[in-house]
Formats: sequence, C-alpha cells, structure tokens
Amino acid sequence: MLHPLGQNTIRALMRQTAQPQTRARVISDFHIAIIGAGIGGLTAALSLQRHGFGVSVYEQATELREFGAGLVVTPNAMHALNALGVGAAIIETSNVSVGLLFKHYKTGEVLQSRPPGDYYKSKYGASHLLVHRADLHAALSAAVLANDPACIHLDHAFSELCQDENGVVARFANGATIKADALIGCDGYRSTVRDQVYGSTPVTFTGQISFRALVRSESLPEEIRQQAECLYVGPGRMLLHYPLRNRALMNVVAHARQDRWEAEGWAIPAQRSEFLELYSDFHPNVLQLIEAIEPNALFKWGLRDREPLPQWTLGRVSTLGDAAHPMSPFLGQGAVMAIEDAMVLGRCFAKTGTVGEALRLYETARKPRANAAQLYSREQGTNLQHIDPGRGAEAIGLFNYNPTTVPI
Ligand SMILES: Cc1cc2nc3c(=O)[nH]c(=O)nc-3n(C[C@H](O)[C@H](O)[C@H](O)COP(=O)(O)OP(=O)(O)OC[C@H]3O[C@@H](n4cnc5c(N)ncnc54)[C@H](O)[C@@H]3O)c2cc1C
Repeated sequence: MLHPLGQNTIRALMRQTAQPQTRARVISDFHIAIIGAGIGGLTAALSLQRHGFGVSVYEQATELREFGAGLVVTPNAMHALNALGVGAAIIETSNVSVGLLFKHYKTGEVLQSRPPGDYYKSKYGASHLLVHRADLHAALSAAVLANDPACIHLDHAFSELCQDENGVVARFANGATIKADALIGCDGYRSTVRDQVYGSTPVTFTGQISFRALVRSESLPEEIRQQAECLYVGPGRMLLHYPLRNRALMNVVAHARQDRWEAEGWAIPAQRSEFLELYSDFHPNVLQLIEAIEPNALFKWGLRDREPLPQWTLGRVSTLGDAAHPMSPFLGQGAVMAIEDAMVLGRCFAKTGTVGEALRLYETARKPRANAAQLYSREQGTNLQHIDPGRGAEAIGLFNYNPTTVPI
C-alpha cells in the first residue's frame, strides 16, 4: 500500500476527520466515497443509495456533463437501470435497435446482421437500446440528486489517499480532505485511485485512432436514414453509424489503424478532409455521411489499453468501471460492464457486515467476467477490421447475465 502523504500527515488527517463513535456501528451507517461522476460512478452511487448507504461522489469537472456520442446499452445493463428506477427515462429518449447490418466496406454488401431490439427484449427480458450518453448521464445524475441533493461534489479532482482500520482519507487538488468508510475509484481508464493503490500501470496506445461525430439526420440522404444501423468493415478500418434521440441524430464512430498517437483526450477537433481521405475507398454512403458532418462537430482520439488488473481491491479501497477494467469500444460493453459492476457493488454492501467483506464479495463476483470482456473486446478490435466481423457480445454469452439477481 502506498502512503504518499507520509505517515505523520496521515495520522494528523485521521485525527482531524475521525468521528466520535458512541455506539456500535451497523453497515448501513457507513459512508462511501465515490471518485468520478461518470456512468460507472453515478450508477454506483444510485445502487448504494438504494440500499440505504450514505454516499458522496467527487468529480474533477466543474459541471456535470457527458460527451455528445452514442452508447449501445444491452439487456444485461438495462436490468440494472430498470431496477434502479431510471430505465423508463432512458427508454423514452432512446432508440430501440432495428437490427445492425454488417457491410462490406467497399461494395456495401450485407455480410452479417444482428437481430432487432425486440428480439433481445423477448429473449433476455430487457431492452436493447441506442442511447445518447448525455441522456443516460442526465437520468443517472437526476436520480442520485433526487435521493440526496448534496451528494455530488464538483471541482474535486482526487489526488491522494491513505487508509487504516478506521477508514480512508482522500485529498483533492482543491485542498479539500474527506474521510469515508470505503472509497471506490470510478475515475476512468487513467484512474488516479488505481495508481495510488497499486502504483502506475502502463497505459499503451492500441495502434488505433477513432473519429466520432453526431450528424443531424435531416441532412442525410434517405437511403442512409432508412438503413440507419450499419457497421462497415474494411482492411484496417471500420465505421459504425446508428440513430439517436428518436432518429433525430446519427451517431458516427470510426476506428482506423495508425502507427503513432501522442495527444490525450476525447475531444480533439478533427478535420472532415482527413477523415474523408482515410476512408476514401469506402462505400459512397459512408463518404456522404462523412461529408454531412458539420464543421467543429468531428473529434478524434487515440485508443488506449492496459492489461487487466490482477486485483481490484485493497483494504477499504476498490475500483469500478474503466478504472478497474478499461475496455476498448469494439464490443460496446465498457459502460455496460461499469453498470453491472455498480449494481453488484450495492448488493454486496447490502449483504455483508463489513467493508472488507463487501469489497471482497464484489471483486469475486465481478472480476472474472469484466476482465474476460476486456480481453475479448481487444480481440474484437482486430476482428472488426477484417471482412469477417467475428462474434459480438451476444454470441459470447454476455447478455445472459442479470446483475440484479446473479448469485454473489
Ligand atoms: C468510441 C467509444 C464508443 C463506446 N461505445 C460503447 C457502447 O456502445 N457501449 C458501452 O457499454 N460502452 C461503450 N464505450 C465504453 C464506455 O464509454 C466506457 O467504458 C465508460 O464510459 C466507462 O465509464 P466509467 O464511469 O468507468 O468511466 P468514465 O466514463 O471515463 O468516467 C470517469 C469519470 O471520472 C472523472 N475523473 C477522472 N479522474 C478523476 C479524478 N482524479 N478525480 C475526480 N474525478 C475524476 C472523469 O471526469 C469522469 O467523469 C465506448 C467507448 C468509446 C471510446
């Protein structure tokens, strides 16, 4: 365990923040700190609140927001979102998938197809949706704040922690210090919590870059609007598009091989001309779609990867979502796995009498599944750039899981 604050500072902080204990504590008295108000952190907060725990979420950003991009939310996550009371709000603003077509990058020939959302709903008992990230994020934050209007603390960039048998002390870049009974790092693939507990683990460039954009559907030719869910697979490149917000928007995301990448972040502005040049041999529908992207609406970034963590938890501190298992986007299951983690975390705290036992149960229940999905997603990154698009998340059995009932 790293103690980056130094032993004397730690002891002083523990004394400053220690709460007088006048009676034996039951676990529902516990206060849990969550670092990061992304999809994983907010779902974890909601899941813990639902079981009666006190939760505080600390987010580095100065406002609550998500990127303008799409997410495929599959039945395994929808079970949790329904149980947490946000399913209906998400369904209202989302699209039910009409069935994804895998197409040859140049000819547009249909190579494979996936069934429509209704098929998944009848098979797995929950919807399969195409969701705007901001809508999911807004529904989760509204539900968390409805339970506790003071739960989310913005402008709190976590910087360091220490822990002992009495609790965890965390310190933030703004100078604030808090104490909690447990701390969950939901701070994404570059997790500072993870680095604090285990030391830095290398995050490497995958050799793939991505482009993303949202296009107004009304600016697209009828043929593209009709066949709205397509994934074009080509040598070293793929491009996926699907509709959002009741078909008002078309989500475009593309991944292509590239030798080097330096810049950090999800929102690096890109030029339509460079996107067009890279995809110039793709089907004319793809080129029309790229041409319809408005100025300043195209972004690019380099995809990062990290080996799965052998251990997620140390003492009172654990990790969740991309902080535990940073997932490449090729399986469309990164946010879904974060939601599953969050649902199971709440159940584990509700089931046990100590923080240590709750976190041990959580890691045992979640690590094998999430780490396996992380590795398969990496493999799928190669599959999706050949003419044979490989097996998707359903084919490898990921939808056959209900985080609200899975034994823990
Ligand atoms: C192109 C693309 C497409 C994708 N498509 C899908 C899909 O269709 N379906 C799917 O399930 N997944 C998809 N994913 C994956 C998904 O986006 C991620 O797995 C998911 O966002 C992880 O959620 P998270 O809450 O763990 O982390 P994040 O979403 O990264 O949230 C982390 C939060 O922590 C905050 N934070 C970071 N550091 C600190 C700090 N030091 N202190 C305080 N706060 C901090 C951040 O500001 C952020 O709010 C896709 C990913 C990409 C790149």
